[in-house]
Amino acid sequence: MPELPEVEVTRQGIAGPLEGARIEALHLGKPLRWPLGCAPQRLVGATIGEVTRRGKYLWMPLAGEQGRPQGGLLWHLGMSGSLALLPPAPHEPPPPGPHDHVDLRTSAGTLRLNDPRRFGALVYAPGLDRDPAARLLAGLGHEPFDPGLTPEVFHARLRARRGPIKSVLLAGDVVVGAGNIYACEALFAAGIHPGLRADRLSRPRAARLLASLRSTLARALLLGGSTLRDFSDAHGVAGAYQSEAAVYARAGGRCRRCCGTVRRIVQGQRATYFCPGCQKR
Ligand code: ZN
Repeated sequence: MPELPEVEVTRQGIAGPLEGARIEALHLGKPLRWPLGCAPQRLVGATIGEVTRRGKYLWMPLAGEQGRPQGGLLWHLGMSGSLALLPPAPHEPPPPGPHDHVDLRTSAGTLRLNDPRRFGALVYAPGLDRDPAARLLAGLGHEPFDPGLTPEVFHARLRARRGPIKSVLLAGDVVVGAGNIYACEALFAAGIHPGLRADRLSRPRAARLLASLRSTLARALLLGGSTLRDFSDAHGVAGAYQSEAAVYARAGGRCRRCCGTVRRIVQGQRATYFCPGCQKR
């Protein structure tokens, strides 16, 4: 599943080329998770602004004639989506394959959404603070690198939650971006048992967990920057990161820190990997 680092690396790859580009056509294939919410023809002629990210959503603001705001497009890559920016005219984009469901043709090239499982979405909204965008973004927690997310704020938010810390991280309403790999790895790095109740974390341990989550995500972003150049594979970051994971997907393997055995448990129907020797309640 594309996680926050993949989405951010995707954003970094398309934002520059698409800023200022003019929409020439929008072709939709099979239905995605949610409908577009407007006639595709209505978007033709609009100019694309700076693509930003919120959680795992990408927001593409649009301007009409004389730069008047004209809402924007909210993209989500779902379980299996990836975006590719294909070269502009005179190149003709290759015909869409069976899993290509959106072609946004612009003066800077064609932005193509490939999504075999079709849990992704492209949704029009009159503004980021207007429905359906506002509704979709409403439950999201802090951005992991938001300076406003201090250790004190993080600790206070965890104090209000009774679920296991791993599940609270995955829920994304305290902090976004801790997908399964990164939540497991950050908890290992911080020496925290994934089953520990979130409200039982001491302030120093919460601070350590926040720092570990940030360094884990920063490392994944770095790997993404080097491995995802052509944006053809949204799983590139997770894949590259996984190869150096300390615990994720290493059940039965030896812990590199204490030489104990990495274990796998299931929490909230998701696999959790941890080292009982290194991670304490
Ligand atoms: Zn260990």
